[in-house]
Amino acid sequence: MRRMPMSLGLQPQRRHPIRAAAIPFLLVAATALGAFGRPWVQQRAAALAGLAGLARARLLPAAGVVATPAVPPGPPPTPAPAPDPAAPALAPATSTPAAPAPRAELPARTGLRRVAVRIDGPLETSLTREVGRELGPPLAQVVTRALVWWVKVPGELRRGDRLEILFEPREGEEPRVHALRFHSGKLEQAFRAYLFRPEPEAHPRFFHPTGEELELRLERGPLDDYEQITSLLRDGRRHQGVDFRTPVGTPVKAPFSGVVTRKNWNWRSNGNCLELTESGGRRTALLLHLDELPRTLRVGQRVEEGQVVARSGNSGRSFAPHLHYQLMEGGERVLDPFESHPTYRRAIPSSQKAALDAEIARLDSLLDVVQPSG
Ligand SMILES: [Zn+2]
Repeated sequence: MRRMPMSLGLQPQRRHPIRAAAIPFLLVAATALGAFGRPWVQQRAAALAGLAGLARARLLPAAGVVATPAVPPGPPPTPAPAPDPAAPALAPATSTPAAPAPRAELPARTGLRRVAVRIDGPLETSLTREVGRELGPPLAQVVTRALVWWVKVPGELRRGDRLEILFEPREGEEPRVHALRFHSGKLEQAFRAYLFRPEPEAHPRFFHPTGEELELRLERGPLDDYEQITSLLRDGRRHQGVDFRTPVGTPVKAPFSGVVTRKNWNWRSNGNCLELTESGGRRTALLLHLDELPRTLRVGQRVEEGQVVARSGNSGRSFAPHLHYQLMEGGERVLDPFESHPTYRRAIPSSQKAALDAEIARLDSLLDVVQPSG
C-alpha cells in the first residue's frame, strides 16, 4: 500500500516560503483526488464521457432508482500525478481465507451488482477480490465514506465484519452504491443505509431505515446545501479538508466571524480562494476552488458568521465543481469540521417516508438475491 507521507500538508506555515509554495500544491493535488477519485476515473472520463449516458440508460432499471446526475464536466486530458492515498489500513491480513460469499450477479438489465464480503484485511483488498481491480478500489472509497459514519475506518473494522453492497458501476465515475448493510463485530450491531432521493430534492442521499440521513451536517457550515460529500478527513486518504460537490455559484458562508487574511494565493492549485481567521480565536478556514471573488472583498476585511463571502466554483486544480473547506488551528493543526462544528442529522419529511420504505424494501429484495455460487 502506498501512503502519502504523514507530513503532507499538515503544517502549512506561511513563514517558510518553500513550504508555503509546496504545501498548497500538494494539498490541492490531494483535493483533486478527494473530489473526483482516482486517476483511472480521470483517464477514462474523457474517453468514456460520451458513452456514459448511453451506458446508464441501458443499465438502469425502468423505475424506482433515483436519477443519475450528469457526468462531471471536463476532466483535464492529463491527470495530475499523485500518490494513491486510498487504501485504508487494517490489522495485517492473515492467510485466513475469506468466508465464501456468493458472487451474485443481479439480472443484467438492472445494471446493479451485489457483493457480499467478510472482512479479513483492508477493505479495498476484500472488495477487489470480489469485484476486480478496476472496481474494487473506487468501490472501497465510496463504501468507506459511508462506513465512517458508523465506525472508525480502518481502526474499528474487525476481521469477520460483514458487508453487503448493492452498487451500480458507472463509466468514468465512481460506482454508485444504492444499499449497504454492515455488521460490526466491534459494536455487535448491524447498520443499513439506502440511497433515496426525496422530493423535491435534486440529489439522492443515504438514509437510515429510520428516515434519518446517514451523513451528519454541519451547523454554521460554509454551505447550506450540496450534492454530495466526496472527501472527508476521516475517510483515510490524508486529505486536509472536506470536499462538497456543489454547482458553481453556490453561496459560500463564513463559518465564523473574523477577518479575511489571504485571498487568491497559489492560484494555479487553489484557484480563487479565501482564508478567514477567527476573531479572538486560533482557527482559520480555507475555502478553495471558488468562483471569481468580488474585487470589493479585500484582505483585512471583517466578515460575520453566516455572511456570504463567495460563490463556489471549479477553479484551480479542480476536476469538477466543488468546495474544499479546510479548518486549521494555530495555522498548523488540521481540524475535522465534523468535530469542530456542531452537527445534526436531517430526517426525511414524513410525507416521503412511505416512498423511502418502499425503496428500502425493493433494495433489500435485490440484496437478498442469492445466486448459486460458481
Ligand atoms: Zn479538497
